[in-house]
Amino acid sequence: MPKHPPMYRQYRQLKAEHPNALLLYRLGDFYELFEEDAEIAARELGLTLTRRRFSKDLHLPMAGFPYRYANRYIARLIGKGYMVAVADQLEDSRQAKGLVKRGVVRVVTSGTVMEHPFLKETADNFLLALAPQGETVGLAFVDLSTGNFQCTQLPRADLPEELAHLRPSEVLLPPALHADAPFCQSLRELGVARLSPLDEAVFSPQAARRTLQAHFGVASTEAFGDAPLGHIAAAAILHYLKTNHLAELSHLTTLSAYHLPDYLALDTVTRRNLELTRTLRDGNRRGSLWHTLDETQTRMGARLLRRWILQPLAHRPAIQSRLDAVETLVGDAFLRHDVRAALRGMYDLERLAGRIGYGNANARDLVNLKNTLSRVPAIKAALATKMTGDGAEGVGALADLQTRLHPLTDIVDLVNRALVDEPPILLTEGGLIKPGFNPQLDALRQTAQSGRDWLTEYEAAERERTGIKNLRVKYNQVFGFFIEVTKSNLSRVPADYERRATIASGERFITPQLKARESEILTAEENANSLEYDLFAEVRQTIARRLPPLQETARALAQLDALASLAEVAALRGYAKPRLADSPLLRLREGRHPVVEQHLPDETPFVPNDCELSPDRRLIVLTGPNMSGKSVYLRQVALAVLMAQMGSFVAAAEAEIGLTDRLFVRAGASDDISQGRSTFLVEMSETAHILRHATERSLVVLDEVGRGTSTYDGLSLAWAVAEEVHQTVRARCLFATHFHELTALGDALPAAANFSMAVREEGGEVLFLRRLVPGGSDRSYGIHVARLAGLPTRVLEKARQILASLEGDAASLPCPATALAEAPTPYAAEPRSLGDDLLLPADDPLVWSILRELYRLDIANLTPLEALIRLNAWQQQLKRGGTSS
Ligand code: ADP
Repeated sequence: MPKHPPMYRQYRQLKAEHPNALLLYRLGDFYELFEEDAEIAARELGLTLTRRRFSKDLHLPMAGFPYRYANRYIARLIGKGYMVAVADQLEDSRQAKGLVKRGVVRVVTSGTVMEHPFLKETADNFLLALAPQGETVGLAFVDLSTGNFQCTQLPRADLPEELAHLRPSEVLLPPALHADAPFCQSLRELGVARLSPLDEAVFSPQAARRTLQAHFGVASTEAFGDAPLGHIAAAAILHYLKTNHLAELSHLTTLSAYHLPDYLALDTVTRRNLELTRTLRDGNRRGSLWHTLDETQTRMGARLLRRWILQPLAHRPAIQSRLDAVETLVGDAFLRHDVRAALRGMYDLERLAGRIGYGNANARDLVNLKNTLSRVPAIKAALATKMTGDGAEGVGALADLQTRLHPLTDIVDLVNRALVDEPPILLTEGGLIKPGFNPQLDALRQTAQSGRDWLTEYEAAERERTGIKNLRVKYNQVFGFFIEVTKSNLSRVPADYERRATIASGERFITPQLKARESEILTAEENANSLEYDLFAEVRQTIARRLPPLQETARALAQLDALASLAEVAALRGYAKPRLADSPLLRLREGRHPVVEQHLPDETPFVPNDCELSPDRRLIVLTGPNMSGKSVYLRQVALAVLMAQMGSFVAAAEAEIGLTDRLFVRAGASDDISQGRSTFLVEMSETAHILRHATERSLVVLDEVGRGTSTYDGLSLAWAVAEEVHQTVRARCLFATHFHELTALGDALPAAANFSMAVREEGGEVLFLRRLVPGGSDRSYGIHVARLAGLPTRVLEKARQILASLEGDAASLPCPATALAEAPTPYAAEPRSLGDDLLLPADDPLVWSILRELYRLDIANLTPLEALIRLNAWQQQLKRGGTSS
């Protein structure tokens, strides 16, 4: 076998150390990939596939990109699920004897990346591991950029929702789960970029315990909470990081177990329907609840607020503690202002601590750290004023948070003494360390400086001696220091100058004196630079030893920022502090929709509405025409519960919220067709999910469920579902429907009530009042609209007969037949409402004005909805006119 050329051997060696990764091999200003890696990169990144000639007989496929764009290309590769190993030059190519030494300096995947642009500033990036056992699954996740490391264990049935909530970008699995194709497909659909199977042995309890003990330096794993399978998953993460990622993991200082019942359960559909972090319409953050509530001042605060929204709490003490903190900040505008002003412009300390632990923080990061930390004492002092005296009781989370803010003056002092205020990003070119910090560095700099001074003097002296006015002493990497003389002055060059090069404008020379000084100056400068680097690394190392209090401070600041944001919003928009109740109540006085009210034009004020639910009235059937405000109302009630339980004030004048375990919001929508499932199937499987999971402590919000099928199908199902929720599940439930027949349900069931959205006519215009009023809407408009649209009388008559006969079949509907039979229908209702009390004389001006309007109506250009609105307006006019005359 021919002996391969050295560079190829080096490449093979590096590749062998990282067989699962695409190897980026640094060659000059490029990163190159070879062989199969090159083919993959060319395909995935659209790079040109070329060939590199290693030797006469060895030509290999090659693709590459400029090193400056590395992060962008790496982000794309890891986004597609690849592992990328970056091999850099470990020595200066000019000084290398023979082949430049190269080594892999970092290995990244979607779940382990620490750099922009893959990492979003305001979202978490999770690497997650699963350790199933029977019907239970251990789950752990880590955000390497912040050191947030958590685990839990949960019933397998709850896994899909938890995964949908966490949205990891990389998942580690035991082989059996990795072989489960439908499961893996579901993960990919969630946006998981990379699935990595790990050896079964990694998931053994013994191996896991050893891994955790070794990493955290603890004797027992009990401190990490009660989740043995979660611990195994956490150990799998550590194992994976340590074997694949060269990662320094000192910032993973703690692992904490969480338990799903500690949180208000929200499923994916509910989160989507409530538009918590993005809107349904265009997927934008603007228009979401997060956007509306986000007045945070820092990235870490924004991330935490998002987490709170997606994962509200379930237990009273934790909720009350946040609510009390928000109340304190609402009540003291000065404190709120001071805290927010101090937070403004603070650096992302959580991720900074991550980079320090990871060992890739640069000098600017440390200066930013210092600037951020130096504001902590002021915040701590401002909060401390609340901790004394009478007010100390009610400050909730602020008390605990105040003790977790560490001023870390040692770090501030160290960075202050060591680093200049505006250091360069590069760590190897000097200019980082302040004078006076290290005597040895000062001496080296002194030497270098006096050398430079000598050069200036030497240049002046040589100009004097030779009479060449524009003689210059210059430096470049090839010659070192040299003297440059322009063409016109060449005749004056003295004999002791040695010519080194000719350039277009003149010639370059060296002299023995210059060379004698050169090495002294350059050595001093180089030594100074490398000493600076060492000093910097030492400073970073010293700070890394303080990671636990640093991370604690970062988390406390994030929390303070999120609380202050909630307080700011509450104060500006007049939200109320909710009272928490243990029984399943829900009372809102003048409740509003926090997002819709922000987006209405100024001239249309939001109309507040009450809500009153309790065990004795746990089902509200809400009827009303399209566009009357039903959906908004349903969602504002659901959001009130969610906001209260995340610790926020509520968009209402007064609120009392019975603690809720699960919140379900369903809309009978027709938007899911794009996903390839029939709307109705989606609707029904979502509904089935509710019936299986809701409890007496849940809130179920159903908006037009049953719309996706034929009328009587839909009506029957909607009826049965509502009845089941009411009778068996006994959850609090809001049920909006356009099936006006369902008002019978509100009448028939003992703990149900009918409400509708009011509509009024004013000056010939129909107004949606957006006001919730007791009683059902008893209108069905179909045949009226048909008549307006000019359908022949014969056809209308036929339709009426069919409807009557359909309604005669009401007894076969899956509901109490008596209730439905008694339900007001339009044709039964019409004579009743229009008959006896219509006391208008035939020549009444009102009748004539209505007839006039009817005569002038441009029916051909009228939408059915507009027709309904007109009809309704006329009827209201007649009713009012009739009773008043
Ligand atoms: P429905 O569900 O009855 O078809 P929506 O709830 O979608 O009606 O409301 C339609 C529109 O009415 C909303 O987009 C909003 O602009 C407006 N609206 C709804 N409720 C209110 C309210 N309480 N105050 C002011 N405007 C409202």
